[in-house]
Amino acid sequence: MTDTASSAPVRPAKDVLYQRIATEEAFAPPEMLEIYRKILAKGDVDPGFEGLMGFYMSSPSERAQHIMRCLTDLDQIRLGHMDEAGIDRQVIALTSPGVQVMDTATAVSFSRLANDQLAEAVRRHPTRFTGMIAVAPQDPTAAAKEIERGVNQLGMNSVIINSHTQGEYLSDPKFWDIFAAAEAMGTPIYLHPNSLPRNMIQSFQDCGLDGAIYGFGVETGLHAMRIITAGVFDRFPKLQMIIGHMGEALPFWSYRLDYMHQATVRSKRYDSIKPILKKPSDYLRENFFITSSGVAWEQAIRFTQEVVGVDRVLYAMDYPYQYAVDEVVAMDKMLMSADDKKKFFQTNAEAVFKIPPRPETRRRAP
Ligand code: MN
Repeated sequence: MTDTASSAPVRPAKDVLYQRIATEEAFAPPEMLEIYRKILAKGDVDPGFEGLMGFYMSSPSERAQHIMRCLTDLDQIRLGHMDEAGIDRQVIALTSPGVQVMDTATAVSFSRLANDQLAEAVRRHPTRFTGMIAVAPQDPTAAAKEIERGVNQLGMNSVIINSHTQGEYLSDPKFWDIFAAAEAMGTPIYLHPNSLPRNMIQSFQDCGLDGAIYGFGVETGLHAMRIITAGVFDRFPKLQMIIGHMGEALPFWSYRLDYMHQATVRSKRYDSIKPILKKPSDYLRENFFITSSGVAWEQAIRFTQEVVGVDRVLYAMDYPYQYAVDEVVAMDKMLMSADDKKKFFQTNAEAVFKIPPRPETRRRAP
């Protein structure tokens, strides 16, 4: 990669004492975009999907075209950007909304194809890529089987779900076979944003705030709260989930969530808010990992480390949607102990995604 600008290009230091593992990175098989084109060509398209992928797939803007090129590449373009940004490894997932916007049969069969493609890319670049298992929540039994296949046959150790599935939430017990499989297989579920569902989008879209700027975080935070308050972690205490964007602001909300959850339970005002064993913030600390995707902001990262613990906060970039080399440089400079910074960039991700340490790390071991 060359840079013809007169000022020296910003480059992350190579001599840092940790590897940088980015944990919320996206890809899109060209075959998925073909399915999306067919969905977009039909009448009555979901407004959130039309506004998000409809835009990226048809916009002539340089940013949109660049993102589409990067999304579909699992080789030299991606590796070049990783080298330029000092990213040792990407943990890669099928981009939002993945298969969740498809009809059930297509979603089930395409999730397998996408997982096979990603596993193939990981085999080509085993020291640079780690894959997440895509599943179709539309068919929870098939999703549970795909989690098992992903672990046992493809060597993947985490699951991607892009928030709601056509307006339905994983707090509904009909989806809980997915949680049972994830808990049994020890695979954390990354709850990634989706565009807002039909019954929520209008008041966000009216003012242009439905996307990554605000709506995504509100909706994904709501989804995580629905899972907590529905008692999912009382039923599946070992289940682990991952949420990006500094926990979709939930760490900052923790005090009020705890206070008002207790008050709401006591009021008996809602059938859906029943007593659960712990405070909402306890589940955040015990059942969630939080990544910094899209939020290269030291104060928020350190605050979240204080709230949920340094073992539960991980680095993510959100490639290719937010590819910013200067953010890596800024985060290298965070005021943080060397141990905690290594946890943030490297070792927490190795533990969560079961990534084997690289040879040079092993050589240092006694
Ligand atoms: Mn993302």
